[in-house]
Amino acid sequence: MARVVGERVKKGILERLNSGEVVIGDGSFVFTLEKRGYVKAGLWTPEASVEYPEAVRQLHMEYLRAGSNVMQTFTFFGGKDKLESKWKDVNEASCDLAREVAEKGNALVAGGISQTSLYKSHKNKLEIKEIFQQQLEIFTRKNVDFLIAEYFEYCEEAVWAVEVLKESGKPVATTMCIGPEGDMHNLTPGECAIRLVKAGASIVGVNCRFGPTISLATVKLMKEGLEASGLKAHLMVQSLGFHTPDCGKGGFVDLPQYPFGLEPRVATRWDIQKYAREAYNLGVRYIGGCCGFEPYHIRAIAEELAPERGFLPDASEKHDSWGSGLSMHTKPWVRARAQKEYWKNLLPASGRPYFPSLSKPDGLRMPEK
Ligand SMILES: [Zn+2]
Repeated sequence: MARVVGERVKKGILERLNSGEVVIGDGSFVFTLEKRGYVKAGLWTPEASVEYPEAVRQLHMEYLRAGSNVMQTFTFFGGKDKLESKWKDVNEASCDLAREVAEKGNALVAGGISQTSLYKSHKNKLEIKEIFQQQLEIFTRKNVDFLIAEYFEYCEEAVWAVEVLKESGKPVATTMCIGPEGDMHNLTPGECAIRLVKAGASIVGVNCRFGPTISLATVKLMKEGLEASGLKAHLMVQSLGFHTPDCGKGGFVDLPQYPFGLEPRVATRWDIQKYAREAYNLGVRYIGGCCGFEPYHIRAIAEELAPERGFLPDASEKHDSWGSGLSMHTKPWVRARAQKEYWKNLLPASGRPYFPSLSKPDGLRMPEK
């Protein structure tokens, strides 16, 4: 299958989704850049766009090469509540980096905002909306293509985000970091989706906190909620790159291994091909990843859905489908692995014989102040 070469005319996000195209999102930023030494765990803030722009640019480049159609500005936890005096410079630099890389391929720039640190303590609507408004002012000036409000655990705060973002006239996507049990006020995923669409979101779904299987189960509930109420929206999923079947309502942050011991849970590229196929079959057309989701996982989405999309990403130049490149290996038993059935049915071993495969989430959910 041919790879895309040369310039294409860029269609907007809704034009793509309305015509039935699959849009591939990007993957992990704070988690991946923490491992590479550019982000501090705990804070999870995006100062690297100013301090180490080459590190942020390189990660965008890797996602673009892997097949991402969206360069999301590295502005997670990028509001004034988190970054204080640095917020403006960081947001501007992040927009410039995303645009610079998006222009090298068929990708759009999405300005991203996320939950504030204020909602849990005092729910001052005006103050919270002002933080979103400040970031939106920069996204508008930098002319991003659309907007993403992500990682909201309270539907009410996500609705406030949508209310601010839609004022720009640009398409708004919103994802919550919730599982099938719903938001932290016990609103069901279906009810959350309904409120977000009514507020003005064109694309809704989930990101972060849960692995592929649970994330898709939650999006399915959102879809059913929308259908039951006669509302229409595009569906989006950006799961963790980790398996989390043992999570409670709070997701992976409550697992004892969060955030420094999650490696044994990393999804294989084959797990992610399965995720991409299941998302597609569910009707989700915006498919990407969040924490732990690396460029090779994004490539796996692009490869699984290449028959539907009609092309492979640039990074497939170095990756033959379903391990077929192994047919060039010198050892016959490794050559025997150069086939789809082998990798599709593989049961990965952890290499840790005395370790449990699952664990108990820590304690009960405690008040966060
Ligand atoms: Zn995440």
